[in-house]
Amino acid sequence: MIDNLEQLRAAIEVERKYKFIDIQGKNYSFSSFIRKLARKEYKTSGKKPKWAVLLETFEHYPMASSLERKRAIDLLIKIVKSELEVSKNEDIKKTNTPKIQNPTEVDVTYVKGVGPKIAYMLNKLGIYTANDLICYFPRKHVDYSSRTLISQLREGETTTVFGYIHNVSIYNSAKGLSITKVIIRDESGKLELTFFNAKANKYVQERMRSQFPKDAGIMLSGTVKRDSYTNKLTFDKPSYSIMTGEFLTEEKSNLNIARIVPIYTVCENLNIKVLRKAIFNAITLYQDNIQNIIPQEIKERLGLMDKKEAVLQIHFPETMEKLEQARFSLIFEELFLLQLKMVRLREETSKEKAINLKIKDDGIVKQFIKSLPFELTGGQKKAVNEILHDLNSDKPMARLLQGDVGSGKTVVACIMLLAAVENGYQGAIMAPTEILAQQHYNNLIQWLTPLGLSTGLFLGSQRKTVREKFRTNLKNGQMHIAVGTHALIQDGIEFNNLGAIIVDEQHRFGVKQRNLLKKKAANPQMLTMTATPIPRTLAMTVHGDLDLTIIDELPKGRLPIKTALTSSHRSVYKLIEDEIQKGRQAYIVYPLIDESETLSAKAATVEAEKLKTEIFPQYKIGLLHGKLKNDEKEQVMSDFKNKKYDILVSTTVVEVGVDVPNATVIVIENAERFGLSQLHQLRGRVGRSDLQSYCVLVSASKSQETRERLEIMTQTNDGFVIAEKDLQLRGPGEFLGTRQSGLPDLIISDIVKDAKILEIARMEAIDFVKNHNLKDYPLLEKVTSLQMFGGLDI
Ligand code: ADP
Ligand code: MG
Repeated sequence: MIDNLEQLRAAIEVERKYKFIDIQGKNYSFSSFIRKLARKEYKTSGKKPKWAVLLETFEHYPMASSLERKRAIDLLIKIVKSELEVSKNEDIKKTNTPKIQNPTEVDVTYVKGVGPKIAYMLNKLGIYTANDLICYFPRKHVDYSSRTLISQLREGETTTVFGYIHNVSIYNSAKGLSITKVIIRDESGKLELTFFNAKANKYVQERMRSQFPKDAGIMLSGTVKRDSYTNKLTFDKPSYSIMTGEFLTEEKSNLNIARIVPIYTVCENLNIKVLRKAIFNAITLYQDNIQNIIPQEIKERLGLMDKKEAVLQIHFPETMEKLEQARFSLIFEELFLLQLKMVRLREETSKEKAINLKIKDDGIVKQFIKSLPFELTGGQKKAVNEILHDLNSDKPMARLLQGDVGSGKTVVACIMLLAAVENGYQGAIMAPTEILAQQHYNNLIQWLTPLGLSTGLFLGSQRKTVREKFRTNLKNGQMHIAVGTHALIQDGIEFNNLGAIIVDEQHRFGVKQRNLLKKKAANPQMLTMTATPIPRTLAMTVHGDLDLTIIDELPKGRLPIKTALTSSHRSVYKLIEDEIQKGRQAYIVYPLIDESETLSAKAATVEAEKLKTEIFPQYKIGLLHGKLKNDEKEQVMSDFKNKKYDILVSTTVVEVGVDVPNATVIVIENAERFGLSQLHQLRGRVGRSDLQSYCVLVSASKSQETRERLEIMTQTNDGFVIAEKDLQLRGPGEFLGTRQSGLPDLIISDIVKDAKILEIARMEAIDFVKNHNLKDYPLLEKVTSLQMFGGLDI
């Protein structure tokens, strides 16, 4: 039993906060603290192998990459959680109640067929409890269930043969191998199997022979091949089973042949047959404890299997149909529970109080909208209405505003901030990069200063004196609106009375950071925004607790950006030249090199030099990269905006939100290095006025796959279509990026492939909460409770 759970929890939290630097505590580094814990637990638990696995992992920790470190911590949490569950049960054991146990509370070591050695290997696969074993679902199945007569075998097919052992001969070959030939006969013909072994003496040969008793029944499963030596059909490394009396009576216990056989991901030294047996034993042992979680009414209506049956069938299906039904049942369960959790999370937040923000017909919000040089688009109006409706309530808003690049989210955000101001509160907007924060600031002062409002900017890199002035005004309430990066959430930044918060490009922030900003206010209203269209399925999974508003149109008069893919620069330079001649500007973007802004900055610098001296000596070329100081970046951006440069050479720092409407060309070098969504974001830097804009993707890649992927960009400008494709190609984890994915651990579901089931699960979850009281469903309530693991839920 782990004694100091709170200390452990705190250690993990700190290590995560500091992005896995193996933080040095008073006495120990993080990893040595965990190693000490693992060693102690290993000893006191009677050498439970999971602690050995943990120890090994954390011995490697100081050398590991940050991604590996993150995984190591996930492993640590999983092991500790399993220990908390298991130790509940061990207390029971001491009081000696041998009743059926809950498989989540049984250490995998105690499952029949699993000893310490196998448990160690299972632990390495992330299996710690009997329940983990039961939920270690097969990667796929091979159908060996249909029997084929020997005379009907066809090369390449995967099947099963039943027959009798007709003859066995064993001899040593000239090359020093022992060769066993077994002839099998059924009612249609004969088949010869050959096994090669190391050279064997008489005794070993006899033992081999005794494995194939003449006239015994035999069942073979595998893939049919042609023997290169005899040119006859045979099996390629088949699984086989001799039909002894025991086998015939216990037909069902045969897990490996003549049936639909489960294939699992195994690690080295773990025999798949051993794993199958262990899983089968766990299911058999605990089947009476596998409970239906899904309410009966839903289960019947959707034709779901009993959980117990579904678990058995997903591993050891009787038929392919049952396998499908089992899979549907388990996927539905997983997604339903996930969605129910989201719905509950949502309910929790709606119990909180928030300030009510109402707007007047002649207030500052209406005044602002009237003062704009353009009319809001239909999409913007709809978004504004939904937001104002949310604000006019004492429940906190839980809304995500999605709008494709260039759809005009900034104005909508500004309106929300003004709603706070109109009600006597302050507003704040947080952006992920300094360039973006600066740009929001520029927009806001331009719009709001004429209305007599004061706006301040908070950046990590700004001068102390500037910051100090802003800070004082924010605190005493003279400042109405604050714009900033993470600098906004630092200690020492205090608001007078913050009422509305906006987080732009929210996926670039962690939940923690958003909450820190929230804590600067009493009961604020908060809106999150993103320009990365998130496919619906993913949005439901990751943001299922939020309402979505989508701005699905661009301002009037925008022409679709023309996009081309090329491997040569000649036409590219011609296009840039033509556009500059028309008075327009161009971006040339270089990808991140090895995740390093330093290397990329160097590369961009070299390229900019080359462009200046060799290709466009007649034009003015600016250079922007992440290594510039903030005021330098600001200078370059504002110079570009003021047309002091014709071309801006840049790393991906321009990716997010940069708005220079006169730029009409963007050239993206080494385009193959970008994901589709990122390309779409970059492309969104142009097409921000009624001028025709162009995007050129330059890639020398010859890979068919890469070209097909990039072609997608030339076919559509629709961010949602691109996001869907991107999700299909890269999977949800990559799509969301590693910074803050918020993806739940799904064991069996795939939110891309199982999108339809996800939709059903979500509707069912919402309906269920509406029409039932969760208190009447204690098990369901427990597994979807927001704090399942007490103190350790980090
Ligand atoms: P994004 O949604 O990508 O953040 P922005 O808010 O930066 O988009 O807006 C893109 C550009 O469109 C800006 O120059 C903005 O002033 C302009 N804009 C916004 N709304 C409208 C509108 N309704 N009509 C015309 N131009 C608009
Ligand atoms: Mg924006």
